[in-house]
Amino acid sequence: MFAPQMQEKRSQKKAVVIGAGVAGLAASIRLAKSGFHVQLVESNDQVGGNIREIRSGPFRFDTGPSILTKPEYISELFLLWNKNPEDYIRFLQVEPLFRNFFSDGTFINSFTDRKKFEAELKQKSHEHFSQVNKLLDESGEIFRLTHEVFLERSLHVAKNYLNWPTLRGIFRFNRIRAFQSMHNYNRKKFKDERLVQLFNRYASYNGSNPFEAPATLNVITHFAVNGGSFLPEGGMISITKALKKLAEETGVEIKLNSPVTKICHEKGKVTGVETNGSFIPADVVLSNADIHYTYRKLLPEIPMPKIIAEQPRSSSVIVFYWGINKIIPNLELHNTFFGKSDIAEYDALFKKETICDDPTVYLYNSSSLNPSDAPEGMSNWFVMVSAPFNNGQDWEKTTAELRKNVLRKLSEVLHEDVSALIVSEKIMTPPMIEKNTNAWLGSIYGNSSNKIFSAFLRHANFSRKIKGLYFSGGSVHPGAGIPLCLLSAKITSELISRRVK
Ligand SMILES: Cc1cc2nc3c(=O)[nH]c(=O)nc-3n(C[C@H](O)[C@H](O)[C@H](O)COP(=O)(O)OP(=O)(O)OC[C@H]3O[C@@H](n4cnc5c(N)ncnc54)[C@H](O)[C@@H]3O)c2cc1C
Repeated sequence: MFAPQMQEKRSQKKAVVIGAGVAGLAASIRLAKSGFHVQLVESNDQVGGNIREIRSGPFRFDTGPSILTKPEYISELFLLWNKNPEDYIRFLQVEPLFRNFFSDGTFINSFTDRKKFEAELKQKSHEHFSQVNKLLDESGEIFRLTHEVFLERSLHVAKNYLNWPTLRGIFRFNRIRAFQSMHNYNRKKFKDERLVQLFNRYASYNGSNPFEAPATLNVITHFAVNGGSFLPEGGMISITKALKKLAEETGVEIKLNSPVTKICHEKGKVTGVETNGSFIPADVVLSNADIHYTYRKLLPEIPMPKIIAEQPRSSSVIVFYWGINKIIPNLELHNTFFGKSDIAEYDALFKKETICDDPTVYLYNSSSLNPSDAPEGMSNWFVMVSAPFNNGQDWEKTTAELRKNVLRKLSEVLHEDVSALIVSEKIMTPPMIEKNTNAWLGSIYGNSSNKIFSAFLRHANFSRKIKGLYFSGGSVHPGAGIPLCLLSAKITSELISRRVK
């Protein structure tokens, strides 16, 4: 009986969300549900942030993410508004997860289905599958012990600690493998070096170094392998299209081509934002832009908390979008071509801030599932290699060298002259990522997660200095990647709904 009145009262409150990445879209949809009048202000001419598409002649490419885990976090947004998610987006489960090519000329397919994975290993490795089973079960346990504490709530609100599951989660450092590096953990599990490489690779999902990051990051392995990997029908861009549609239907006002230049505040309280020379008043401002960028460019008068500002940045990527004049039958949707040495690769990336000569190459071939992404008989290859964040390197030279090395590697493994098959090309480098989304130094996962306490060294979802100012997205708690960005939108919008009455 009281609900409509509350809704009306809430509708007087105005929220401005800066940036229409996946977290900004999700937070806007949630805030609209709580009765706010939401204006979502985006500097680009389209929404989606990293999740956009580009066309290159007759080829279509997803620009950023290609692997979706936890699609239920997307569905939840539609269910919140009593809508059927399937009317907006359909998720296809991907099996095999990956075709993994190794430098000894062999390959192993990895699967979510453990029986299929076991059958594959039986044929291709001396490793007993019970070791894989153990790793996957232990990764699941890490998720069970940590998700409520580290992923689904603010880590910066004292009362969130005053309950038993939280305290238990925090003090189980051994069971969440916090004192062991991901590499050491994987090394102890497997004799087959290829499996160590295969499972180390999950550290790169949030731009971390498996030789330094705690094995707690195997929670990523749990998301990706136990939970499965998905591709929406129509490609990853369907996530952006579906959320934009829902946002518009729920009354979110989307303003494109509107870079916010300033977050305004008075007497310790947020008052609105400036964009395109005009002021938009607001009771709440939620910045979904990178937190370093937000402080430096939109709030230069307020210093960023020192300990967070000083954390090292996570890695970035270089992506080649190649139109290929052939379909190579030996490729799956997701393919990894491992380099000879993980240690050489990660040392180059994190210690020397460069890319080694034989890096691991990831190839996403969306036309194998979505034939309309390429003309008949052709393929669209999204070829990605981890790169350091932008520290002023000579990117033209680095990219040219990398291109040569990647072509040599793919040509050797696939027994094709790949450079002769390329009929169109676009390239994305760390400085371009920075330009497109304001990701600070082109780092795509915010601060790195290489230390035991990294989870506590991400910025909170709210400002302690300015009332009414909040933060979501990949650079703040709980972290980057689509699922965590969606959780950050949930944590932040719930905080706002509780606090702003
Ligand atoms: C190449 C690549 C591959 C990836 N692969 C995967 C993957 O396979 N799976 C996965 O889960 N994750 C992946 N990620 C990570 C994932 O894309 C990000 O974690 C996620 O998309 C970040 O979303 P976000 O909402 O935090 O911000 P972003 O996507 O960075 O969006 C921020 C938005 O804010 C806007 N903005 C910034 N400043 C302003 C301003 N001043 N005014 C107005 N608007 C502003 C930007 O234009 C942008 O639209 C990948 C990322 C990249 C780059």
